[in-house]
Amino acid sequence: MSHVFSIAEEGVTPFMQILVPYEGSPEDYLATSGQRRIGPLDCCPNCRSSRRLRFHGYYERFVSSSSTGEAMLVKVRRYRCRECRLTASLLPRFCLTYRLVRGESVARFLRGGGIDSCDLRWHSLLLRCRQRFRLCLPALVEPVHSAFGTSISRTTLSEAWQVIEDRLGPIGVATSALLSACGTTFLGRYLCHRPGLICSQARGDHTNLLFSSGRDPPT
Ligand SMILES: [Zn+2]
Repeated sequence: MSHVFSIAEEGVTPFMQILVPYEGSPEDYLATSGQRRIGPLDCCPNCRSSRRLRFHGYYERFVSSSSTGEAMLVKVRRYRCRECRLTASLLPRFCLTYRLVRGESVARFLRGGGIDSCDLRWHSLLLRCRQRFRLCLPALVEPVHSAFGTSISRTTLSEAWQVIEDRLGPIGVATSALLSACGTTFLGRYLCHRPGLICSQARGDHTNLLFSSGRDPPT
């Protein structure tokens, strides 16, 4: 199984992605069209233009349900800059960039907690996330210490993750803080979080892709 959850769109350059707060579950987001309550964007995250960005529809992606474990199709709101022409998508923080499994489940797994019955089918993806965290951790030690005054040099992954959550908050909040301070996530550094690229450089990056096989996304 590979890329079965990928959604390609012709003529669109999905690029900058911003993680935004959402007080609710994925089910609530889906049932109440939570995407309509997100935005607007008053400043371009790529070129920093202060012209309010134009609403540019939605793309769809999957996220695992927090109750059934099924993959749910949710809409992600998108805007387009009138200056640099790049789009910016506003991803609710219960999602992780490029990852199908919701952040809450990934965080529980990184803490060393058990797998909920609803997440059993995503076990291989959770293992892959943990491996990504293992690979990324050495490069995170110094920037996290510098930005937050916290040491994540621990003997086990679960201890390191627990320190991160204790200091920075739940995974969505922690990821936003890390992105803001260090330009990376806990599972990788991606082009879609890097401002200042021109359109031709950004074309290879697709924030609306999900890697259901666990393959690593573009970095
Ligand atoms: Zn712009």
